[in-house]
Amino acid sequence: MTAEARIVDRPDQRPVTVRTALREGAEFLSRLGVPGARLDAEVLLCRVLGCGRGKLFVAFESILGAEAMKQFHSLLRRRAQREPISYITGHREFWSLDFDVTPQVLVPRPETELLVEVALDILGKRRSSSRILEIGTGSGAIAVTLATQRVEVEIWATDLSAGALEVARHNARRHAVEERIHFLQGDLFDPVRHWGEGFFHLIVSNPPYVPRRELEVLSAEVRNWEPRLALDGGEDGLDFYRRIFFAGDVFLAGGGYVAFEIGADRGAEVLPVLEQQGGYLPGTVYYDYAGRERVVAARKLR
Ligand code: SAM
Ligand code: GLN
Repeated sequence: MTAEARIVDRPDQRPVTVRTALREGAEFLSRLGVPGARLDAEVLLCRVLGCGRGKLFVAFESILGAEAMKQFHSLLRRRAQREPISYITGHREFWSLDFDVTPQVLVPRPETELLVEVALDILGKRRSSSRILEIGTGSGAIAVTLATQRVEVEIWATDLSAGALEVARHNARRHAVEERIHFLQGDLFDPVRHWGEGFFHLIVSNPPYVPRRELEVLSAEVRNWEPRLALDGGEDGLDFYRRIFFAGDVFLAGGGYVAFEIGADRGAEVLPVLEQQGGYLPGTVYYDYAGRERVVAARKLR
């Protein structure tokens, strides 16, 4: 029986070594065109065995038990449906911190670490404690990371999705910063409206920014599994920038900042939205590790 038949049709009970199980698992995913097949097979087997990848290599020649084999095959079949590896394992690393993720939240992306860097840089220029608003917190990756890196900040984090906020709260508890983050459900600024004008020193957001027509050409992992609410940026992908820049300066203290993630190389489209609003100094574009425009930040005029 081929490895594929064994995995898809009926996991047989023939004992194999960890090495063979991994090879067959990787071949199975690879034949189906799953990107990163070998690494994913390793991660999934680690999940089953409850060990780190290092330990997996040490155990190469040991025999995989029937129950472990069955579980491994079931996870491989999920991955073959292009379910993101992070939803299968329930975890994702961001800024070297471990975050719980579920299909209620966007899987935090490595590019978003640049937004955290820029935000930390902005906070570094301030002498006193800072009040931060994060719009669309999802897993809480940005808010929780900022809170772990700066003890003097207090954060208000909003999301339209109650399911996402539940995950974010859990992540804040895990990293012991829940007392300094207020998670609030609602549309953009609605949940913080009564805090009034000039309250925040920094507004950060990685808003949904995929142009609607491009939603269908995203990878199967993103298109079929991640929440639409986290991705759909309207007709041209700029809806959230218009809404947040327009209303945002009212909530900022004098000299406060906005810092946003943008779609790759979309600075030339986002900067004019900022300029049209008129309440900010000229924005700065920051580049991610792939050399692509990824963050826009600007200071409130006065
Ligand atoms: N901050 C997380 C990150 O960077 O990984 C998640 C960012 S995800 C691109 C955008 C988030 O905005 C999603 O969690 C989505 O639920 C939320 N969202 C979408 N529309 C919203 C709205 N009108 N008001 C508040 N949050 C919204
Ligand atoms: N970076 C995400 C993607 O590649 C999009 C996230 C967003 O819309 N903010 O699909």
